Amino acid sequence: MIDGPVVAISAIEHFAYCPRQCALIHCDGLWADNEHTVRGSRAHRRVDSGQARHERGRLVLRAVPLWSDALGLTGRADAVEIDGSRIIPVEYKTGIRHGSAAELQLCAQALCLEEMLGVEIPTGYVWYGGPRRKVGIPLVPELRREVREIVDAIRTQLISGHLPEAPNDERCIECQLRSHCLPELTSAPGRVNRYMARVVFRCDT
Ligand code: SF4
Repeated sequence: MIDGPVVAISAIEHFAYCPRQCALIHCDGLWADNEHTVRGSRAHRRVDSGQARHERGRLVLRAVPLWSDALGLTGRADAVEIDGSRIIPVEYKTGIRHGSAAELQLCAQALCLEEMLGVEIPTGYVWYGGPRRKVGIPLVPELRREVREIVDAIRTQLISGHLPEAPNDERCIECQLRSHCLPELTSAPGRVNRYMARVVFRCDT
């Protein structure tokens, strides 16, 4: 049992994308939709239905609640396939592969299922809606270690409440929180002060 706040599996994707985005969402409670999050929500309707069905000889459970006492994690799997004694988590993404966020989320789901069910899960799948491809992901020790390190880093962030500086790089262009984060203003020390002096107090610095 972990001492400290429980981490949401969804925070792993946010942290992998940008630690500041993770802090804004999970520490400050901010949320804003953009075209990507809206498209994702619409595409997840069937996944979120919670309906189980048989597909090609497998039982497919949807919107499966997950937790891990050992990691202090909680969340939900988009789908879990049961094929005989094999348990296979499946993460759905609407677009194409971006970095390793989907693999990390999938691995976190597998770690939860392993603890909940007392099974070993060597492989999961990420289904990408862009190319409409289901990609097998080996859940290797390095990926598992990375998940544990990110979960620890998120918990540390939750406890400290620290808001990291904005990197103000190409990630910000498509970020759902761009208008809340204001990365151009917050990316370098002193910029906010200069902005406040110029715009709010109307004096030169
Ligand atoms: S706008 Fe940029 S710095 Fe701000 S949360 Fe998004 S990705 Fe991170």
